[in-house]
Amino acid sequence: MKTIAHFIGGELYQGQSGRVADVYNPALGEVVAQVGLASVDEVNAAVANARRAFPAWAETSPLKRSRVMFKFKELLEANQRQLAEIISAEHGKVVSDALGEVTRGLEVVEFACGIPQLLKGEFTEQVGTGIDSHSMRQPLGVVAGITPFNFPAMVPLWMLPVAIACGNCFILKPSERDPSAALFLADLLQQAGLPDGVFNVVHGDKLAVDTLLTHPDVAAISFVGSTPIAQYIYETGARHGKRVQALGGAKNHMVVMPDADLDGTVEALMGAGYGSAGERCMAISVAVAVGDVADKLVERLKARAATLKIGVGADAAAEMGPLVTRQHRDKVKGYVDQGVAEGATLLLDGRDYQHPGHENGFFLGPCLFDHVTPEMTIYKEEIFGPVLSVVRVPDFDSAVNLINAHPYANGTAIFTRSGGAAREFSHRIQVGMVGVNVPIPVPMAFHSFGGWKASLFGDHHMHGPEGVRFYTRMKTITSRWPEKLTAEFVMPTMK
Ligand code: NAD
Repeated sequence: MKTIAHFIGGELYQGQSGRVADVYNPALGEVVAQVGLASVDEVNAAVANARRAFPAWAETSPLKRSRVMFKFKELLEANQRQLAEIISAEHGKVVSDALGEVTRGLEVVEFACGIPQLLKGEFTEQVGTGIDSHSMRQPLGVVAGITPFNFPAMVPLWMLPVAIACGNCFILKPSERDPSAALFLADLLQQAGLPDGVFNVVHGDKLAVDTLLTHPDVAAISFVGSTPIAQYIYETGARHGKRVQALGGAKNHMVVMPDADLDGTVEALMGAGYGSAGERCMAISVAVAVGDVADKLVERLKARAATLKIGVGADAAAEMGPLVTRQHRDKVKGYVDQGVAEGATLLLDGRDYQHPGHENGFFLGPCLFDHVTPEMTIYKEEIFGPVLSVVRVPDFDSAVNLINAHPYANGTAIFTRSGGAAREFSHRIQVGMVGVNVPIPVPMAFHSFGGWKASLFGDHHMHGPEGVRFYTRMKTITSRWPEKLTAEFVMPTMK
């Protein structure tokens, strides 16, 4: 069986740790490869390679660095389909969805092509007599990215183009559940002319992550994954003196106002709730029905969800595929059991779904709950599967209060025809990314992505201007060139 290699110092490297993890094809439910789990020495080797590559890469002019990104963008475009098929084979999402993921990642590469504009410093003439002051942004050094299974290309691409275009060297520790996309990106970066050692991939588990978190030569950690691990990454990385941005889990609500266009809203909820089998950090998992819209909404949701087309990756008509692993599918099923036990009304039950010809695949049909209340486990916890809950509230204020009381605060949306309600919602809601008649408000690459509260630990969101700030540090220079130098003993002040 194939063992997926690491990519260190510009070369594929078959791990020698003796530890591996199985990689599945979720549609078939079969192990298709194994991935090496890096030892401490192997992670150290990647860091050492990145550290060696850093001085020359940092000295490379921003324009030359962005030209590599430009070439990388062209290669990604040319190979978009192949990458999408790699993602689909290990993650399970349908190819059309994987193509969308690659496009959103590509947009960050496009953004990185223009990074020289954002690396420009500031200059003030004559801050004192004959004294000028300027500031510049410089790269940090070796930085690492630790990424989740659900976007094996897009999430690494939130990080690495920005980090590398800013002059850093990057180590990616992708999810061990779908590791091949990372190697495909490494190959394209190499073809684009990126010097060896600037981008490295180490596969692994907690041991690899802990080695990166505590390594003295790693300056910063970008993490995306579940909240308990995000918090651990933030605390451990910060304790070891690193800059950390750690994005966590989510429980995204969509408020449906009585004046919303119901047919359009139901379609939006289908894609946002069940697309990618609900395995998106911006998926909508709670529909908040305001006032008398609830009965009409629920009736249409049930009818439409029952017609969702489930399929395998290559099926162009499929709207959702299997879940990533058997263990995750069973965990999601367990949440549905718990929802029933705690008294929610299960209107659509996908627990026994089997896909014809793929009886061992990790499929789950769409599940729809009505009359979900805030005390229920299925409301409180992130499910990360094709399970949509409807919570009924009497009015707009109750909807806002409900969402603001939830610990997660990644994304949210409101569907309404009222500009006033939409404006009030955007203003009062305590969530990082807000959609108005947009179900999945993922910011474009030149804005920044990130949630609030338990959905993000750290100070900076990803990509866009915040990404550039995260991957650079500011230096401020004060200079004078007098004919004859004088020095004062007291604290310098403006006379
Ligand atoms: P996860 O937290 O299990 O794993 C994420 C990464 O952390 C992986 O690379 C994994 O190998 C590593 N990891 C796992 N356990 C670890 C441990 N104990 N110590 C150190 N490292 C560890 O997440 P996942 O299941 O791969 O991804 C799904 C989660 O990611 C969901 O909670 C989802 O909401 C979240 N997510 C969030 C965003 C966002 O932008 N906020 C985006 C995508 C996914």
